[in-house]
Amino acid sequence: MTTIAHHADYLCEAVSRLGSESAFEVLARAKAIEAQGRRVVHMEIGEPDFDTPEHIKRAGIEAIEANYSHYTPSAGIPELRDAIADYASRFRGLTPAFGRENVVVGAGAKPIIWNLLSALLDPGDELIYADPAYPAYASAAGYLQAKAVPVHLLESRDWRLDLDELAAKIGPKTKALVINSPHNPTGGVLTREDLETIARLAQEHGFLVISDEIYSRNVYGPRFESIATIDGMRERTIIIDGFSKAYAMTGWRLGYCIAPEAIAKTVTLFNNNTFSCVATFVQRAGIAALTGDDEPVRRMNAIFRERRDAIVGGLNALDGVTCTTPEGAFYAFPNVSRIASDDRHLARWLLEHAGVACLGGSSFGAAGKGYLRFSYAASLDDIAWALEQLREALPRYVP
Ligand code: PMP
Repeated sequence: MTTIAHHADYLCEAVSRLGSESAFEVLARAKAIEAQGRRVVHMEIGEPDFDTPEHIKRAGIEAIEANYSHYTPSAGIPELRDAIADYASRFRGLTPAFGRENVVVGAGAKPIIWNLLSALLDPGDELIYADPAYPAYASAAGYLQAKAVPVHLLESRDWRLDLDELAAKIGPKTKALVINSPHNPTGGVLTREDLETIARLAQEHGFLVISDEIYSRNVYGPRFESIATIDGMRERTIIIDGFSKAYAMTGWRLGYCIAPEAIAKTVTLFNNNTFSCVATFVQRAGIAALTGDDEPVRRMNAIFRERRDAIVGGLNALDGVTCTTPEGAFYAFPNVSRIASDDRHLARWLLEHAGVACLGGSSFGAAGKGYLRFSYAASLDDIAWALEQLREALPRYVP
């Protein structure tokens, strides 16, 4: 009998290409510090601190009691897919409306991103994405041996894409562009003009646009605009959306994409091969979220807006820190390059020495170097305490 010495030797080569979302790692460390009895303000992970609205919880509980506990089709239950098609078309002002055949439901938007990119990218294909960005796109592209091509978001343009750089990076292998507006980690929101330029480029060069609109309900300035509403873009756009951010449902795990039918079918095939289907009672709760009272969403958003103003004002009052005003999502992305060149080191130091959990901008790509990301999904009291901690701690920071 042989014995196993190093389990890692058994891992396949492909796993070395996987990225990771560092928010989950920092969350684990922050919880460990809290377990020692120290105060920590959690601004590391992108999740609303609110409870899921009551009528959505009720629908989930009633669904369990009514025995909605069996497998469902891999694309989701028809009633939920219809509710999503209807809501998504109405909210974006898209006519004619999307149909059930366009909607694929997943256990969060994240596995849908994985399954979608698995459906689209061959080795050598190019996926253009914004830098900094939510790490899931480049991780999946890398795993699939596609090339993830970064295009800078510019602080000077309030974290909107450098459109000249985008035009220059499009080539014959460009399969798709990922946009994410409102944006994680910067809170930037693309304007209608930006979207029109992107749409023109997509149509000229024949690539798809993957539009991650998971923060579409977290907008503080102008009305949310989807690129899918621009002429000729409906058949070129795949919308990613979900319930985590708008309805404070991160732990329920429910998200979806809306795509042209052939693409939707292939994403469904990947669902079938991975998680089979989403928990049935969770899907029932999703129907309640979309068809029930929308007031909780607006209320949470009004609170986020107040917090945004508090944190952005507070950050700008700190020596050596500047912060643009985000128009969407719930992240502040201050420039700390005058204080630290290694932003991740600074973030770790702040957690250990000031009890403030945040992320280094470099965790979101090379262009995030010199920034921190604060998720302002924390109470105004917590934000005030964290700002006070930063005011005291930052002058003591030694890089
Ligand atoms: N897209 C973006 C831009 C995100 O920030 C997140 C969550 N942080 C997701 C997708 C995934 O969300 P979920 O899997 O919870 O639906």
